[in-house]
Amino acid sequence: MFRALVVSKDEESGKTSAAVEEISADRLPEGDVTVAVEYSTVNYKDGLCIGPGGGLVRNYPHVPGIDFAGTVEASDDDRYKTGDKVVLTGWRVGEAHWGGYAQKARVKADWLVPLPDGLDTRQAMAVGTAGFTSMLAVMALEDHGLKAGDGPVLVTGAAGGVGSVAVAVLAALGHEVAGVTGRPETADYLRSLGATQIVAREEINETVKRPLEGETWAGCVDAVGGEMLARVLGQMKYGASVSAVGLAGGAGLPATVIPFLLRGVNLLGIDSVMQPYDNRLRAWKRIASDLPMDKLESMVQPATLDDLPGLGTDILKGQVKGRVVVDVN
Ligand code: NDP
Repeated sequence: MFRALVVSKDEESGKTSAAVEEISADRLPEGDVTVAVEYSTVNYKDGLCIGPGGGLVRNYPHVPGIDFAGTVEASDDDRYKTGDKVVLTGWRVGEAHWGGYAQKARVKADWLVPLPDGLDTRQAMAVGTAGFTSMLAVMALEDHGLKAGDGPVLVTGAAGGVGSVAVAVLAALGHEVAGVTGRPETADYLRSLGATQIVAREEINETVKRPLEGETWAGCVDAVGGEMLARVLGQMKYGASVSAVGLAGGAGLPATVIPFLLRGVNLLGIDSVMQPYDNRLRAWKRIASDLPMDKLESMVQPATLDDLPGLGTDILKGQVKGRVVVDVN
């Protein structure tokens, strides 16, 4: 038997409810590798899956948790053996497949990544999908020419999970970092992560009036989308790139193509879910080398399985600061 957060659906009302339950190991889904989960975390998608599902969950009862880190307990795949430390993000685990909000998980070996040297399982989940995606976003900016000294790099949704890690990584790499936040009380926190400029959300969250504004940002990691992304495109320096990561402010993009045509601005799509294995390894290695662990620790809010229903609601309201680390044991 093991403990898990189980989301059940009442067939009559269609309503879902989440509670911690004891589950028998024979109910684990099929897979090559069984992992004794140590830590998971709370991402925006987890908020959806703990709650009504957001169209992501296929079958109930469901165990959410889109990422986890732990130790291999049993493996039918040559790449992993009992005792190996592993991390998993993406592949629709926690949505279409049972996820990390449990003391045990069974998954395909292809979905796992060996824990990189220099990170323990708790740190890996302090990073989690949000931080892993931030690193993918930073790598994409670099692959498109961004280097330290080019000018300020903007991070939107800065006090959230993706934003916090992006701020810390970019600052550690020597960039000047500006963080957009709707929570002025997080300014000291963002400065402690390395932001040198705080931009109020309302300053930048307006409908595009002019397709081009002053050339301000040398790069951008955008967790917000919507009107904010549309506005930021017109503020990019010539030839600069924006990594589009999230939609916390909306899925629309009420923009014009003028910044692409007249300033050669690049809009780079970042997907963490289906990311190929080699790039996953590259990103985790960069996290181990370029994310200062003291800064990561300052983002952590510890939690247990029992805290998850409340945290799921909080993250959907944009009320979670930094990274929640769930100790499932
Ligand atoms: P968080 O909730 O931790 O962070 C989102 C932040 O966005 C909030 O903290 C808030 O920052 C800001 N925000 C929230 N609502 C609004 C709004 N209406 N307008 C403007 N800003 C807003 O979530 P995560 O960091 O985990 O995820 C961020 C986004 O990235 C989500 O949309 C998520 O789905 C997406 N994502 C995408 C991935 C991919 O593979 N592409 C992987 C992981 C996440 P502040 O308070 O500082 O303003």
